[in-house]
Amino acid sequence: MSYDRQAVIDLDAIRANVRHFLEIAAPARVMAVVKADGYGHGAVEVARAALEAGASWLGTAHISEALKLRSAGFDAPILAWLHTPDSDFDAAINANVDLGISGWELEYVAAAAKRQERPARVQLKIDTGLGRNGCAPAQWEPLVSRAVEFQEEGLLRVVGVFSHLAVADEPHRPETDEQIDRFREAVAVAENAGLDLEVRHLANTPGTLTRPDAHFDLVRVGLGLYGLSPFEGQVPEDLKLKPAMTLRARVANCKLVPEHQGVSYGLRYHTEEPTTLVLVPMGYGDGIPRSANGAQVAIGGKRYDVVGRVAMDQFVVDLRTSETEDLVGAEVILFGPSEDAPGAEDWAAAAGTINYEIVTRVSPRVPRVYI
Ligand code: PLP
Repeated sequence: MSYDRQAVIDLDAIRANVRHFLEIAAPARVMAVVKADGYGHGAVEVARAALEAGASWLGTAHISEALKLRSAGFDAPILAWLHTPDSDFDAAINANVDLGISGWELEYVAAAAKRQERPARVQLKIDTGLGRNGCAPAQWEPLVSRAVEFQEEGLLRVVGVFSHLAVADEPHRPETDEQIDRFREAVAVAENAGLDLEVRHLANTPGTLTRPDAHFDLVRVGLGLYGLSPFEGQVPEDLKLKPAMTLRARVANCKLVPEHQGVSYGLRYHTEEPTTLVLVPMGYGDGIPRSANGAQVAIGGKRYDVVGRVAMDQFVVDLRTSETEDLVGAEVILFGPSEDAPGAEDWAAAAGTINYEIVTRVSPRVPRVYI
């Protein structure tokens, strides 16, 4: 295949990962979380593959992301959960997008529903301990009561209650138990107030994998859909997941250099012996972290070190040998499911971040190709 640089997205892997989560979560259903352009994989393509494989919901942070999915023709239920007063609630209501409500949004959504002469579908979000979005437990009863009033006025329909886990990627921590307990209480308050809920949901990828008691009616799976592991020290294979993204490029330059050759801006790396330096045409302009320290790539089935600073468009790999053929045009795999290649988690470790960020930050400059 002809390419300079590309992110190859394996939709079969995504379908297989979805089926795996369906099995784990059954009878709960699966929401495919496709925010941030499907964690860098392409929201529309991922959503299509996930729904084909049996996911029944789509999840995004922003209304704008949900509207793009509607424009692409998806009629599956979609939940968008992160808003500001400037968010386009009117458009969301018209597009039949479910709106996550943490508090203030309720009044805005009710006003938008009045303008649109159409009831909004809302899901109330309780903060069970993450301390981020969601209604504080002390405000939950008043929020539920106000939602009931609006529902009785015909301005909205409360179809769900949800929350988000804080430490499910560290399964030994007790806070998840507390979050599950608080969630159950919040659901009971909503149901006792007469709300007839379609869905109650709490679990993300790690919660789905480790806490059957957090599955409720629906699990919201992001990272696992893309075949990556949320747990430190566990690779995708350990969890029967298949990474969907392979990030690769062709070698742009290959040259013999003497010992003590400085490499890249700042000359922070010097060759120890005469060696071959290979130039990879990807840099922080493509989303490769400049902070990656000790990252590796695979060329011809072998791993080599990235050396010197990652620049905007390129970085250098030291083959640590002066005896090689000319590698210009050879395939360089930065990360992917191949056994020989590093995983996104290896780049994350090198850059001091998490695999979520490594795939999500692959910039639009890198063409996505779907197989
Ligand atoms: N639910 C909510 C509210 C989220 O913000 C996210 C992502 O951060 C997810 C679910 C999916 O999480 P994960 O990628 O760990 O499955």
